[in-house]
Amino acid sequence: MHQLITSRFLDDYLVVCPGSIAGIKIPVRQFAELEQAAKSGAPAPSWLIKAARQRWAMDLAPASPVRNYLLLRESAEPQYSRASWEINLGCNYDCEHCYLGLKKFEGLSMADKARLLHVMRDAGVLWLQITGGEPTIDRDFTDSYALAYELGMMITISTNGSRLWQPKILDALTRMPAYRVVVSVYGATAASYDGLTRRRGSFAAFQKGMAAALEAGIPMRLNLVVTEHSADEEAAMWRWPSAGGWSTTATSTCPRRSTAGTSHCPRSPPSTCGSGRCSPAAMPVTPSSTPTRTARRRSARSAATRTWT
Ligand code: SF4
Repeated sequence: MHQLITSRFLDDYLVVCPGSIAGIKIPVRQFAELEQAAKSGAPAPSWLIKAARQRWAMDLAPASPVRNYLLLRESAEPQYSRASWEINLGCNYDCEHCYLGLKKFEGLSMADKARLLHVMRDAGVLWLQITGGEPTIDRDFTDSYALAYELGMMITISTNGSRLWQPKILDALTRMPAYRVVVSVYGATAASYDGLTRRRGSFAAFQKGMAAALEAGIPMRLNLVVTEHSADEEAAMWRWPSAGGWSTTATSTCPRRSTAGTSHCPRSPPSTCGSGRCSPAAMPVTPSSTPTRTARRRSARSAATRTWT
């Protein structure tokens, strides 16, 4: 299983590490050098060994063939570096604000999912968001996730978190770390959470999923979705991770909202945030600016993003 991926990204070339948001931009001649080493079975050039140590605290074996741990993505033309895949439009919730109407449990067969993933790989997709509906309810979720990982994609999962406790999912996310696991938070109490999702017991399922994922050491990013059900719980939603004894780290806020005339970005002034899309001033200029599902929610009053580690 690869530890690093090297790939073209639009007009650049990158080395990235699954499970890490940090990457290295390299010139085309170094990409060619890696390509040559991967094809010939040669060890990694010294600059990669040094860079991996600095960037990811990763000690690569100097004598080991680079292809043992580096997955080389062939350059694609045209370049579609990012993709968002609604793997299944069904969901185990029925949120008031959901943009999906019928929520039919429909998806491609596994054979067609595999074909689609290969098409995306061949089109140059490096960052793949798997979303839904609720992606983890799809019968082929873990197989699809594993294949996307094997094809060298940096995967973001957008989920409501209610199925993260399932051993098969935890095992996949532990063995093949995602670029990001983004979890929507719909309230800080069962009353508000279940009220919004219109599923009794959904808050308990969410808590079970979160606890299991945290126990397994899976870093997550939270999207706090504040609606009229939870407007008076916003502060509690922010405090909730700390109250559970979990640490929170740097925030990369991404305010998306539908209430006209109101800015909800805690970090950027209204002038830098418009049309529901983050300005460069509000978002880091890294792959971490991948859009999240919150952008499509209609009645969510505000959303902020936190990273749990
Ligand atoms: S908003 Fe998300 S969790 Fe809620 S019903 Fe829609 S897909 Fe499901």
